[in-house]
Amino acid sequence: MKDWYMIFALLAVLVSPLFPILLKSKCPRCAKRKLEHLESVHVDGAKPSEFFTYYKCHACETSFRQKRSGKLESFEPPVQEPERVLTPSL
Ligand SMILES: [Zn+2]
Repeated sequence: MKDWYMIFALLAVLVSPLFPILLKSKCPRCAKRKLEHLESVHVDGAKPSEFFTYYKCHACETSFRQKRSGKLESFEPPVQEPERVLTPSL
């Protein structure tokens, strides 16, 4: 049955744009697939070389950090300190 190949080809074309969504990582906190990969950061001078991968969940707004291919750990992004007003001492 040659028609089956056509149907499979059509399905593959229809489904392929969905793959990035399907492959999105699951958030360990809220279990929603809304985890976005932010960046991978190499630790300078570390031996063996280490790197962290940062993620953020769009559902619960939690940030996560992953050491190499280890476990995801929740991680507080450095809070931007409000600029301190330095009063010059006269
Ligand atoms: Zn979440």
